[in-house]
Amino acid sequence: MKAYQNYLVESLGIGCLKPRGWLARELKLQMEGITGELDENWGSINRFSDWLGGTNIGWERPPYWLDGLVPLAWLLGDEKRIEKARSWMEWTLNSQRENGDFGPHYWTQEFDDTLFWPKFVMLKALVSYYEAENNPKVLEFMSRYYRFCDTLLDTYHMSGWDEARAGDFAWSVCWLYEKTHEEFLTGLLDKINSQSLNWTECLENCPFTHPTAYYYNWKELTDKSSRSGWYTIMKYHATHIVNVTMGLKQPVMAYKAGGEKKYLDALYAGMKSYMKYHGQVTGVYSGDEHLSGPNPTQGTELCSVVEFLFSLNAIFQQTGDARFMDLLERIAYNALPGTITEDFTGHQYDQQANQVKVSMESRNWYNNGDRANLFGFEPNFGCCLANMHQGWPKLIRNAFFMNGQEELVFGAYMPVSALWQREDGDIRITEETEYPFRDTVTIAFEMDEPREFTCRIRIPGWCSSARIEYNGEVIGSEAEDGYVSLHRVFENGSRIVLHFPMEITLKTGWYHNGMSVERGPLVYALNIKERWEKLGQGHPKFPDCEIYPESRWNYALDTSVPMEAVLSECLSEQPFSKENPPVRILAAGRPVESWQMENNSAGDLPESPVALDAAPETVELVPYACTKLRISLFPWL
Ligand SMILES: [Zn+2]
Repeated sequence: MKAYQNYLVESLGIGCLKPRGWLARELKLQMEGITGELDENWGSINRFSDWLGGTNIGWERPPYWLDGLVPLAWLLGDEKRIEKARSWMEWTLNSQRENGDFGPHYWTQEFDDTLFWPKFVMLKALVSYYEAENNPKVLEFMSRYYRFCDTLLDTYHMSGWDEARAGDFAWSVCWLYEKTHEEFLTGLLDKINSQSLNWTECLENCPFTHPTAYYYNWKELTDKSSRSGWYTIMKYHATHIVNVTMGLKQPVMAYKAGGEKKYLDALYAGMKSYMKYHGQVTGVYSGDEHLSGPNPTQGTELCSVVEFLFSLNAIFQQTGDARFMDLLERIAYNALPGTITEDFTGHQYDQQANQVKVSMESRNWYNNGDRANLFGFEPNFGCCLANMHQGWPKLIRNAFFMNGQEELVFGAYMPVSALWQREDGDIRITEETEYPFRDTVTIAFEMDEPREFTCRIRIPGWCSSARIEYNGEVIGSEAEDGYVSLHRVFENGSRIVLHFPMEITLKTGWYHNGMSVERGPLVYALNIKERWEKLGQGHPKFPDCEIYPESRWNYALDTSVPMEAVLSECLSEQPFSKENPPVRILAAGRPVESWQMENNSAGDLPESPVALDAAPETVELVPYACTKLRISLFPWL
């Protein structure tokens, strides 16, 4: 007997959350940097857009942007941007046709994967819009659209982009089902799952244990065959990095439809394999368009970073497994800010874990162009410029999760305030912290009357000596499956103080037995002196930039000398700062003269341990995201 599986725990919605501290400053920088006026600076999203009834074809780009702008505007309470976002969302709601379909009207004349799939993104934006304002019109709209799809999928069969990204379609269908319990939605979910690219199989057997280049030579393929030919030959969609990180949620959607454990088993096995064969120190997988192996000079596309974070939210809601929040923090606090400028006006298409030069030159990408690692407005292709906006604002949906009225789950730690709306009245929660830069988190409750419930306190996997205080009293901190459960009658003023001492940890076993340096959720990188040069190209307001190294980068870490962490006095306005990093780690490094630049990247990482005679020097490591040139996977001795 098939039974639909509700999420185990549910995110608090955008409307119930407010960023605080450094996170509020980061979101504000994002809004003022690029997100708030993107429509005035980019032809793909301007006022003549087809997503506003005009003739300018915006395709997936306006929905992508709105998927970030909507939560961002409401989280900041930014009235001007709320009005802007609202005008786009209301156009979409009003675009619904008699048959239930919606969107730019020319899409009724032709129908294919590239036209169908952007609607999956707009449906995600609509979920945020609903969370922000509780407007019942959104639920009615989605229900009507899904009735249209329920009929459509009897004759139209997904293929290509919509097939690869069907997990995101299913995601919004499940979201609606858990709100309205309309029975036809489970039937639609089955249809979507049966037409989806079989990510369960991809994850279970991981057919790609080498970089894509090992299997398929891009140049030969594209010389010899047509687009549809190479799409099929090289299993284009199954190796495409953004599809891969989006596809991680698809087995969860298959699990939701009937509760078969095999789907979650495949997900666990697959994530382990992808990490083993394509993993980077920040927790992401490489993909300079397609899965590219564990070499730290391969690229990781920004779209795949924000999509990974979004998939992890869905995976966590279904499993409640604390390890997914460890991974989410690792990606969000390293890979995400590491590929965007501090003022949020420039980003890369591809970031490298070992990135010693940023320039318009060829690299060992699978099939990305020479502009892919520039910091700029639209380097390589415009998808990341459209899609990057969801990263920070949606992260906040991972701060707290609820399990009915019974449990409040502490997810990823960040400074935030939240409103837990319960049948017996609201509870206001304030999380005060400078995590991930500092190790203390204080969570305070405000409520009218005492309430009995359980706090499931996540103990980060890297933390071996957590300390928990409840109203000043130290309580047991022995974690079970990543959590300490605290069942109490909480009252107004109740406080939980968490200490997660951050030790410097050295991890080996990466590519060529390289070493990563970690402290808490942050990965540390060599602080290379950077010379930024503006290129006379890109957007006049947001020019493309190259970065050249002005200091030595080819060091091996000498592990016989203990490392020391030095904390700054206070956090700077922008904590992911090269000038004022929140933490510096002083280490001993020895130059590796044989390790030089090759094809504009650091040459192949020397196999460790290395034998070196060079004298040790003190080198400074700072959080990965404070650097734009870096070594974060080191040879060592
Ligand atoms: Zn992209």
